[in-house]
Formats: sequence, C-alpha cells, structure tokens
Amino acid sequence: MLDNKTILLVKEYIKYYYKNNKIEIKDIDKREFGFGDFENKISFRHYAFKNDNLLKNYFINNAPPFVSYSSAEYEFPDARPMDNKKWLGAELIFDLDADDLHLACQKEHGNLWVCENCLSSVKNETIRLIEEFLIPDFGFSESEIKINFSGNRGYHVHVLNKEVFKLGSEARRNISNYISGIGININAFFPTIDQRGVVLRGPKPTNGGWGGKLASSMIKRLNNGENSLLELGIEKSEARMLIKNKTDIIFGISIGNWDKVRIPKKSEFWKKVIKNLSIKQSDSIDKNVTNDIHHLIRVPNTIHGDSGLVAKEILSLNALEKFDPMKDAIAFKDGTLKVYVIKSNKFYMNDNEFEPFNNVYKELPTYAALYLVLKRVAKLV
Ligand SMILES: [Zn+2]
Repeated sequence: MLDNKTILLVKEYIKYYYKNNKIEIKDIDKREFGFGDFENKISFRHYAFKNDNLLKNYFINNAPPFVSYSSAEYEFPDARPMDNKKWLGAELIFDLDADDLHLACQKEHGNLWVCENCLSSVKNETIRLIEEFLIPDFGFSESEIKINFSGNRGYHVHVLNKEVFKLGSEARRNISNYISGIGININAFFPTIDQRGVVLRGPKPTNGGWGGKLASSMIKRLNNGENSLLELGIEKSEARMLIKNKTDIIFGISIGNWDKVRIPKKSEFWKKVIKNLSIKQSDSIDKNVTNDIHHLIRVPNTIHGDSGLVAKEILSLNALEKFDPMKDAIAFKDGTLKVYVIKSNKFYMNDNEFEPFNNVYKELPTYAALYLVLKRVAKLV
C-alpha cells in the first residue's frame, strides 16, 4: 500500500497532467466510466459525462489513478442495473498483455516488473494481431483500427467498424477463438495426416483462413532461417533438417504437397505450430475482454496508476513499430524526486539506463522516481 503522503503527491502530478492535456473521447455521452484508486483499477463505475469538459473537471478535482470507459455505447450510460443502460453496440477490443505471453524473462523478474523483452514481445504480438489477422482475415481497414499502449505492459486494440459494433458476445467469442487458434481441426487441412504411406496433402498459401496462414507462415519462416522456426516451438534438430531441405519443402507447400516436411508425430507437430502462430490473449473466459460486451477498458491518453505512464494513443501501425513506451509514454519529464529504492532491476527510460538499485537513496528524474514508487519498489523521501 502507498502511504498517504505519497498518494497526495502522486495525485498532484496526475492533476497537473490533466490540467495540461486534453482528452478527447468519441461519443463520450454514450459511454459508461469507471475510476480506480491505487489499490483497485476500478473502484467505482456507472459514471457518465455529457462532454469532454465535464470529464476534465472530474479529472482535475479527483485525480483518479485509473480511468476506464465502456467499449460499449448506451442510451443511458449511468443507469443501473446494466439492463437499464440500453446497450447500443460496442467496439471490438483486444487486450494484449505481456503476462499472457508466459515469457522466460517473467520467471526471473516476476509479474510486477516489466522488462525490455516483455515490452518488445507484446508489441510484436500486437503487430501480428493486426497484420496477420485483423486486416487480411477480417478485412478491417487500418483506419478502423485504433491502437493504444495500456500504460503498463501491453496494448489495447479497438476496432471501430459498423458491422462489428452490433455483434453479441457469442460472435465476439468466435472471433477471439479464431485468432487464438482454438477449435482448429488439423484433419481439415491435412485430410491424409493419419494415414501411413499416403502423400500428405495440405493447405496452399493461397487458401483463406488458418490453412493459408499455416502455409504462408511456414514458407516465410523457412526463408527467414532457423531462429524463425525455433520461435514456432520447433526443435533445433528438426529446424536444421527443414532448413537443409527448404527449397524442396517450399516448392511442395506452394502446390499443397506437404510430404517433403518429414516430421514424426505430424498431427501434434502442426497443432504446436498453430498454437505458436496464434495470438496470445488471456485464456481464461472471465478475463478475455474481447467476449465481454460490457467491459470497461483504459481510456486512451489517461495516466496508468501502476506506472505513471500514459496509456498513449498510437496513430498508425507504422507509428506502433517505432513506439517505445518507456520514452514515448512518459508523462512527467521535468524535475527530479528523491526516493529510497528497496530493490529494482535495470531499466531504460527516456533513453537513460538505470542500473539495478538495492536499498539506496537516489535522486532520480521525476518519471523514473514515480515509476519505481508506483511499481512499489521504492518510497518517496
Ligand atoms: Zn520481461
């Protein structure tokens, strides 16, 4: 828990941020809002605001550490219970969090800390979601896809499309299952996979959906080399063998003949590859936000109370590729603060490297000091 003195000071910074930054929200009068304190991301909900100015006043008066709004629009967003709000539709949202990637680095630094690898891995996953699924498979245009940094260790993707807006949770669950590779029947792509001595027929890169994705990804990764295959969970010895015969294999896959890919336990092998090509969202149903048509999600460009960073809106896919949250999402660039750091790992912020600290007093740039305090690894002095 943060002590009262710390809470008051951090709130002063939050207030300052909202005084100086304009938060614009599309269809604000139809959204439900929820606010958090430093312990809970949503402590109160069912709030509504008629316009951006009223919301700004709320921000300045209350300095909320977390601000969320509904991906849904309602006729009466502050009505209770939920049924009385009169649901009009909802954006399709995807919440990608480094935590769901189960990275090896997380075993070393724990779930509360976020390292460079966590941030770059979840960014790549977000780019793949958009480039390999949302645009080619669902036909959304880049202009319908809004991306923002979550403010801590992930990204939120909002799809603003008229047809999707009215979809219920069942249809959204199907979309989420599709991108997660859930419920794919391997035999549908490889009809002869369980038969010995028969040529293994499989998908071509020109096929739609997962079949085509599997074929084109294999060709792309064979061309990219061994490491690219290892990322799919393929064993080193198998990857070497595949690369050695890649010319033959690529030609085979391009015409739907997968017999050149000589792999034992083919069915399990391709299931594993599909799992690694799929997008990692939270796998528990109650945490999967894509399905939930009443979900509250962080308002873009607001402060995240566990990092002091901004849940920064990212204007294009191109901008996402260059985006560095530990630089581009910094809210408090001016001044320094004195802190007592209990224990922190090495981190980079605003192009500065901060070495690991262990039980020391430090004067740090405001953004770095607040970051450590809000990560609960330092105390304000
Ligand atoms: Zn990490």
